[in-house]
Amino acid sequence: MVKYAVLGSGSKGNSYVVYAQDQGILIDVGFSYRSMTDRLAQAGLSSSSIKACLITHLHPDHDNGLGVFLNNNPIPYYISSQAIKLNHHTYNRLKLNTRLERKFEMPGSIDIGPFHIDTFPTSHDSLGSAGFCIGVEGHKLTIITDTGTYDQEMVDKARNSDVLFLEANHDLDMLHNGSYPPWLKARIEGQRGHLSNMQARQLLCDIDFNCSRQKLYLIHISDENNSREALNKAFCDYPGADFCFQKQTRLGTLDF
Ligand SMILES: [Zn+2]
Ligand SMILES: [Zn+2]
Repeated sequence: MVKYAVLGSGSKGNSYVVYAQDQGILIDVGFSYRSMTDRLAQAGLSSSSIKACLITHLHPDHDNGLGVFLNNNPIPYYISSQAIKLNHHTYNRLKLNTRLERKFEMPGSIDIGPFHIDTFPTSHDSLGSAGFCIGVEGHKLTIITDTGTYDQEMVDKARNSDVLFLEANHDLDMLHNGSYPPWLKARIEGQRGHLSNMQARQLLCDIDFNCSRQKLYLIHISDENNSREALNKAFCDYPGADFCFQKQTRLGTLDF
C-alpha cells in the first residue's frame, strides 16, 4: 500500500510525503522541525521513517525547514545541480550538511528504495526548479508546482498519474484587482511565476483528466488572490478535486 499526504501547501510553507514499504520520502520541507513532526504525526508517520528529501526549488516556503530537519534526521536530500549552481548564495545560506547532498539532472531519474522518480524542469524565478513524477508499487504520483507555464513534458507526466498535485495559485481577475504592487502581480503571472486557475484547468483539459481514475489535489493556492468560489467555478468540471488550503493536512492511500 502507498500512503501519501499533503502536509501543507501555500505561500507560508509546502511539504508532501509519499510512504511505502516502511519508508517515506518528503517533497520539500517548508515548515519548522516542530511543525514538520506534528504534520507527519497527523499522517501517522514519524520523522525517523523519512529516508530522503526531494527539493523542488530554493524558495523559503519550500526549503526553510530543511537544515534543522537534516540536523535531527541526517538523511540524503536531492536537489538539481542547476539549482545549486545558479543560486549558490541562497543555497549556502541554508547551511546544509552537504555530505547529505545528492544532485540530480533534469530530465533524469532517481531511485530511492521502492521509489523511482522522474525529474523534469519547471519554469520559475528560482532557477533550476523541478517537478517530480514518483513511481512506486505500480502507481504514479506527480507534483507540478511553482511554475509560470507548462510544457509537453509536464503534460505527459500528468497524463498517466494516479495522483496529481497541481498548482492552482491564483484567479487572474482577483490578482489584477487585488492589493499587490504591480511588480509582484507581473512576477506572479509571468512565465516564471505561478500557474493560474485557468492554466491549471487547461492542463487538465489537455490531458483529458479522468476524475474516476485519477485523484486531483490543487495546491499552492494563494490566500490573497484565490478563493473557494473562484476554484469551484474554474474546476466545476472536476468533481472530487481537493482544494488544499494552507492550514490543512490531506491524507490519501493507493491500494492495488
Ligand atoms: Zn512556493
Ligand atoms: Zn517558488
